[in-house]
Amino acid sequence: MRKKIIAGNWKMNKTVEEAIELANGVKRELADCTEVDVVLCPPFTAIKSVSDIVSETQIAVGSQNMSSEDEGAYTGEICHSMLKELFVRYVILGHSERREYYKETDEWINKKVIKALEKNLRPILCVGETLEDRESGSTEKVVEVQVREGLKNVAADAYTELVIAYEPVWAIGTGKVATAEQAQEVHAFIRATVKDMVGEEAANAVRIQYGGSMKPGNAPELLAQPDIDGGLIGGAALDAESFAGIVKAGM
Ligand code: PEP
Repeated sequence: MRKKIIAGNWKMNKTVEEAIELANGVKRELADCTEVDVVLCPPFTAIKSVSDIVSETQIAVGSQNMSSEDEGAYTGEICHSMLKELFVRYVILGHSERREYYKETDEWINKKVIKALEKNLRPILCVGETLEDRESGSTEKVVEVQVREGLKNVAADAYTELVIAYEPVWAIGTGKVATAEQAQEVHAFIRATVKDMVGEEAANAVRIQYGGSMKPGNAPELLAQPDIDGGLIGGAALDAESFAGIVKAGM
């Protein structure tokens, strides 16, 4: 049985003061939650405050990106040791917004995945097709390339640590959610791809989240699918009650 994992991606939202309020709200709702892994991914500036708030709870902290480099002249970047110092355990990598706006490539994302694993951080690798890809019938082709390239040279035993987030780009922040059947179909395809890459044991172990307008109302049906092991939540993670509602749907 794979334990469900629900992560909140706060994106470029919340000042430190607002992040403290939201983290306290989530803590009130979910501090003792052991049935589901809960991860909060605030902006870099609020990580320290959020880590302090959740430090003695089951709630983990993640970052929304990480440099593939160790240190040095990389203006504006944040590396693994800076994150680990703040008790970050997960790193979202290859989010479609980073692929689109900052031109992150599969090769670059793969370097980050490898670095994160080497430093005992758990990557949440995001993959997903655009509306154009879906309409032209290329969903599987696009997702397969992102999975194979993003996870290139990752050893089979690392699949218990890493998480894959299937996020159809057309469903992110649009209110258009993939149907449970559409999502399940791609999740099963991703699992089959992992099986082909590194074997059945890793494929059965790896957790695959769905992301894209997930809300307390649609979460139960999505999370009931056999290959959907959690959610990566954007908009609904900015409200403690909504986020907790999704987590509770996964219990
Ligand atoms: C996301 O960006 O990871 C996401 C899933 O956003 P939303 O829930 O707002 O669609």
